[in-house]
Amino acid sequence: MTLTLDTLPGSATDGLTDFRPGFIGLRCGNCNADTPIAPKFVCAQCFGPLRARYDYASVREHMTHASVAARPRTLWRYAELLPVDRVPTDGLSVGCSPLVAAPRLAKHLGLRQLWIKDDSRNPTLSFKDRVVAIAAARARDFSFHTVACASTGNLAAAVAAAAARLGLRAVVLVPADLEVAKVMQAVALGAHVIRVDAPYDAVNRLSLELTDELDGWAVLNVNLRPFYAEGSKTIAFEIAEQLGWRAPDVVVAPLASGSMYTKIAQGVDELAQVGLIERRATRFVGGQAAGCGPIAAAFAAGTDEITPVAVPAGIVRSLAIGSPADGRPALALARSTGGSIEGVEDADVIAAVRLLAATEGILTETAGGVTLAALQQAIRRGTVASDDEVVVVISGNGLKTVDVLAELPRQVIAPTFDAFETYWATLEGPGGHS
Ligand SMILES: *Cc1c(COP(=O)(O)O)cnc(C)c1O
Ligand SMILES: [Zn+2]
Repeated sequence: MTLTLDTLPGSATDGLTDFRPGFIGLRCGNCNADTPIAPKFVCAQCFGPLRARYDYASVREHMTHASVAARPRTLWRYAELLPVDRVPTDGLSVGCSPLVAAPRLAKHLGLRQLWIKDDSRNPTLSFKDRVVAIAAARARDFSFHTVACASTGNLAAAVAAAAARLGLRAVVLVPADLEVAKVMQAVALGAHVIRVDAPYDAVNRLSLELTDELDGWAVLNVNLRPFYAEGSKTIAFEIAEQLGWRAPDVVVAPLASGSMYTKIAQGVDELAQVGLIERRATRFVGGQAAGCGPIAAAFAAGTDEITPVAVPAGIVRSLAIGSPADGRPALALARSTGGSIEGVEDADVIAAVRLLAATEGILTETAGGVTLAALQQAIRRGTVASDDEVVVVISGNGLKTVDVLAELPRQVIAPTFDAFETYWATLEGPGGHS
């Protein structure tokens, strides 16, 4: 492939001149009652969850392979299937992350064809920039002055950066024991960072109270959730477009609340619905860490009942949600597609992070280790076969969790060849130390 200017990510999101919104309102996932476009997340009739609703017939008419291809390389190129009625001309350049062939890792795993959707390559180094791009744009449309969130780590920086770019105030609440790199990233990007002495679920409940008590505050993953959640569909849109407008046999993704995992499937389904890809059976494999894996535990037990995890344990902080909002639909998706939701041990997470780094040169955070380890388990389980074409979603960058992954070489040497030679002789040889 020749690298030309138009294959580089766009620097800004131009307004799309040919854009006809497909988004028409919100609908209750429980009783199907319709709600006009508003910053609401629960149904006024039954308190069920509100979801974005589209006019697929109109999208089918206006969104074509050619119209998408002609647009800037950001997630706004799929605007007809996003919950907006205009496309922002400012904002960060989010999405269109690379889909990289991973032949060395494929060989190691015994797979025919393996792709890495490297979503660590977003402005704040995680997939959370996608959900925040949509929610922050809508927050401004709805005239909120402050964007807030409860975060397991990556959301904090994504909200901080988006707010800075759009001229909004960012307030992020985080569990006090988060990784330093993630907290510092949000602080450095200018957010008010409030560390709370509690696990994520309690922090999340506190953030919900803020929306009730404080005028002009949008909690992006709570009261703008119907808009926020739709951002994850763009991972599916991009994978399909990057494969030449088709879906793979298997997608592997990590689960915290289960939102991204289920929205990727919804994205694939919508592309088939509007005629941009052919409908085919794709299996969805998910991963959770054993230290906080309520959805994986329910999958293993063969039940729909998700038992909340009161005190999350282990190294995978970005997935540590004890009461996952989308646990049930995630279970249903895994079961109905012939996929699985794997619970993986911390030692396997670290081994998988190292394997990805050593085979493909991609350093991911612990959540990415969960995802790759889930694929390894699914291969052993028989959910994934050697002739499957597999896409693994790597959702965050390894610099955010580097402390659990590697130790600094302890010894420091003098700047002489003698010192080098003496030191080298103490090692087992090239690659012998790690
Ligand atoms: C938030 C997050 C996810 C998934 O979160 P959901 O709540 O399941 O959508 C996955 N990976 C990383 C790195 C994250 O920060
Ligand atoms: Zn309802």
